[in-house]
Amino acid sequence: MRHVRSWYADTAHSTPVRPMLIGDASADVCIVGGGYTGLVTAIELASKGLSVVVLEAEKVGWGASGRNGGQIVTGFNKGVGEIEGWVGKDDSRHLWDLSEEAKTMLADLVDRHGIDCDLKWGYLLAALKPRHMTGLAEHKAELEGLGYARTRMVGREEIRSMVATDAYLGGLFDEGSGQLHPLNYALGLAVAAEKLGVRIHEGSRVVRIDTSDKPLAATATGTVSAKFLVLAGNAYLGGVCPSIRGKVMPAGTYIIGTEAMEAERAAALIPSGIAVADVNFVLNYYRRSKDNRFLFGGGVSYSGFDRPDLKQSLQRTMLRYFPQLADLAIDYCWGGHVAITMNRMPHLGRVSPTTYFAQGYSGHGVALTAIAGRVIAEAIAGQAGRFDIFARVPHRAFPGPPGLKMPALVLGMLWYRLQDWL
Ligand SMILES: Cc1cc2nc3c(=O)[nH]c(=O)nc-3n(C[C@H](O)[C@H](O)[C@H](O)COP(=O)(O)OP(=O)(O)OC[C@H]3O[C@@H](n4cnc5c(N)ncnc54)[C@H](O)[C@@H]3O)c2cc1C
Repeated sequence: MRHVRSWYADTAHSTPVRPMLIGDASADVCIVGGGYTGLVTAIELASKGLSVVVLEAEKVGWGASGRNGGQIVTGFNKGVGEIEGWVGKDDSRHLWDLSEEAKTMLADLVDRHGIDCDLKWGYLLAALKPRHMTGLAEHKAELEGLGYARTRMVGREEIRSMVATDAYLGGLFDEGSGQLHPLNYALGLAVAAEKLGVRIHEGSRVVRIDTSDKPLAATATGTVSAKFLVLAGNAYLGGVCPSIRGKVMPAGTYIIGTEAMEAERAAALIPSGIAVADVNFVLNYYRRSKDNRFLFGGGVSYSGFDRPDLKQSLQRTMLRYFPQLADLAIDYCWGGHVAITMNRMPHLGRVSPTTYFAQGYSGHGVALTAIAGRVIAEAIAGQAGRFDIFARVPHRAFPGPPGLKMPALVLGMLWYRLQDWL
């Protein structure tokens, strides 16, 4: 069992090999999945005095939590106006507050448990087209309407001093969004959970669950009986729980890492070291690494197949923005599955009174997994009010049988890509 090869895996803190589940065990709560969702839920439950077992099919942080762009983004994938249309004014306001709590919570977790994960604040959303600038100004006004005054518009001159590309017309700087080393954050959460008494088993894929009033999770080599189950496998959960599978679609997304540059050259690319994303529908997101590489993410595959020329294709995109990097070799290229929902809101709920789940953060999971873990733990401990705000968000299933290509959706995504290009 290894993490996929990535710059993160090569710069990860050393981590113990955790034992496989062998035989029958019991706990108050059994969590399926050792990414951020599972680990934060475990920390929150253990802090309340409950006994917790986490079953991870591969290694802690093996899934999206160990591979992502590391961007901590304010709010949800959808604006508050749209969310209000689905859940009403009050719940929409509560959801916004919960999304803000997620970022505070992440910072607290890092601080309280001394997690060394290069946490840094400051984030730029960059506009490629006049309509993006209009959209960003509207977004800023919406955030201010919620009392969030941590953003400012950036004009063409200023953005050129923030990012070394002529591609942008301007952007929106958000001092309340940021970045971290995703795998080291996950590994740090696991250590924190274990210090609180959580038992983590790696190499322990759950193949069957019982969600009745006597819940149980079974692997090929053992079982865990518990009072509650939490399904935190997200895009990687597969067919373990068919009733929630169709509500998320695993989409492939990818990152390349250049060879290391001289420090001054790297610093000139993004002088303040902030994380950047553009606002295309298929967005590009990037930052520089601690060891002066350029980490550039983008490209999405909805078809279930990876392009054979991924590395070259992402490199071509990077060079459209940063032609000055043409001489750099690409040392890394990796990808993973991000779980998206139809409405791009996180999907939290109960499969039964004893079985909770959280999935489908739609590209905002670095921050939102923290609050998902907290509200699940609150609900299990008997305070379901805040969990139910999430659970009331309506979710529709994707069309077509799970695991197969979904032609309508793929066509829809192609349409949005075409709009990006135009
Ligand atoms: C390339 C990439 C870039 C991204 N960039 C960003 C970003 O910049 N900002 C952002 O906010 N979000 C980003 N995301 C999304 C973000 O990483 C996820 O939302 C977040 O990590 C979800 O955490 P999780 O714990 O729910 O799922 P995961 O981290 O995927 O963890 C699920 C775990 O469950 C395990 N599992 C699954 N099934 C079983 C089973 N049957 N038995 C036992 N274990 C099981 C898996 O092995 C896995 O380790 C990105 C994702 C990817 C792939």
